Amino acid sequence: MYKTDTICAVATGLGRSAIGMIRVSGPDAISVCDGIFKGKKRISEMETFTAAFGRIMDGDTILDEAVVLVMKAPHTYTTEDTVEIDLHGGTYVVKRVMELLIEKGVRTAEPGEFTKRAFLGGRIDMTEAEAVMDVINAETNMALSASVNQLTGQLRTEIGQLREKVLYNTAYIESALDDPENYSLDGFDEKLDLTIREVIEKVDELLKTSDEGRMIKEGIKTAIVGRPNAGKSSILNLLLGENRAIVTDIEGTTRDTLEEYVSIDGIMLKLIDTAGIRDTADAVEQIGVERARQSVEEADLVLLILDGSEDLTANDVEIMKLLEGKKTLILINKSDKEQLITEEVVRKEAGSDEIIIPMSAVTGEGLDDLKNMIRSLFFREEIDYNNQVYITSARNKESLLNAKHSLEKVRESIAEGLGEDFYTIDLMAAYESLGEIIGETLEDDLADKIFSEFCMGK
Ligand code: GDP
Repeated sequence: MYKTDTICAVATGLGRSAIGMIRVSGPDAISVCDGIFKGKKRISEMETFTAAFGRIMDGDTILDEAVVLVMKAPHTYTTEDTVEIDLHGGTYVVKRVMELLIEKGVRTAEPGEFTKRAFLGGRIDMTEAEAVMDVINAETNMALSASVNQLTGQLRTEIGQLREKVLYNTAYIESALDDPENYSLDGFDEKLDLTIREVIEKVDELLKTSDEGRMIKEGIKTAIVGRPNAGKSSILNLLLGENRAIVTDIEGTTRDTLEEYVSIDGIMLKLIDTAGIRDTADAVEQIGVERARQSVEEADLVLLILDGSEDLTANDVEIMKLLEGKKTLILINKSDKEQLITEEVVRKEAGSDEIIIPMSAVTGEGLDDLKNMIRSLFFREEIDYNNQVYITSARNKESLLNAKHSLEKVRESIAEGLGEDFYTIDLMAAYESLGEIIGETLEDDLADKIFSEFCMGK
């Protein structure tokens, strides 16, 4: 159990708006709000999940008319008593009511504190808490559905099932070592090895989603490269023109001023080094290649722009050499002009499996092909975004890798026949790493589990 004070925060956006909502949560939420609200009923007498109309009073002064919504513990977002006060959305009145609450002993909430309380209160686990933030930060439909899946506990369920298997085996070993008469370890190694292999397979599946998860959440890092005057800047503008995504801070990432975001049918591209593209003053050939090298290195996707109205140059070919092993789309730009290079010529230099798209930054020709290709390169069509669990945070990826590492050590110990007590250390390490993902503590859990399932004290 934990004790908390009562917190308040403005829950709506700052600035003038139709409604400004203040949320108050904690043991004194109802009594404090009662003290500043004058309606037909007292807040403390209202049923949970009901609203009332009245006035917010600072002594005898009416601050505003308001609707209050009362939600009583434990079935609230934070699991605590919660009151939401809807005011007229002027910045001054919202600020006055906040000050009034603070005067009455309520504290201003820290960022994310309501969600933290939901976690501490046991209503949601860490994956769901993170998903709440992801939903708020989602910039595209795809990012939104990935986070909503996580919000509804899908990742928690999958991780929970894996932990269950690991824990069962640990508990079994402990019981068998304690009470060999009732728990046999005959043939246990083979069974354990099989289970561990299955768990590793699942962990691998989750890990595989982490790149896609990152790209859904933060955007596909895209480099636009090509020699000076090929049309990089024009294509950048074409992409930005109709699809520019206004991206605020994405949680856990630093917003780089050299990046711009484009949303293409729900897929976000994070265009890297766009300042470099626009900065034509130092468009010396060599710098072009050097800059391309750097952007290509960190990119998930490379758009190589060629000028179709001129012959290929040594510079083009040099840039092509950087692209090996990268997902690349080659755009033969300026298709509205007479063409001096053909797809065949490009293919000969670039390799036979390259995707080549004729395009014009002036007429917009090829733009639809470009979008379709990006979609098919990154997101398998058959995936149902509404049901797929994605690993979207680096923290979770690391925990999965740690879990996998520990599980592999268990398999090694089994192969070397080291004996059961050796396995439990690594099994518990894996259990703990997986537990980090959902933010669960280890000890209480293990104890509860062993006692409830195995009745050691029989
Ligand atoms: P960058 O140096 O690669 O960024 O190239 P720019 O985008 O600055 O383009 C170089 C020149 O080519 C400019 O004069 C553009 O107007 C022109 N240009 C770019 N794309 C096209 C195109 O598709 N068709 C035609 N006709 N001209 C283009």
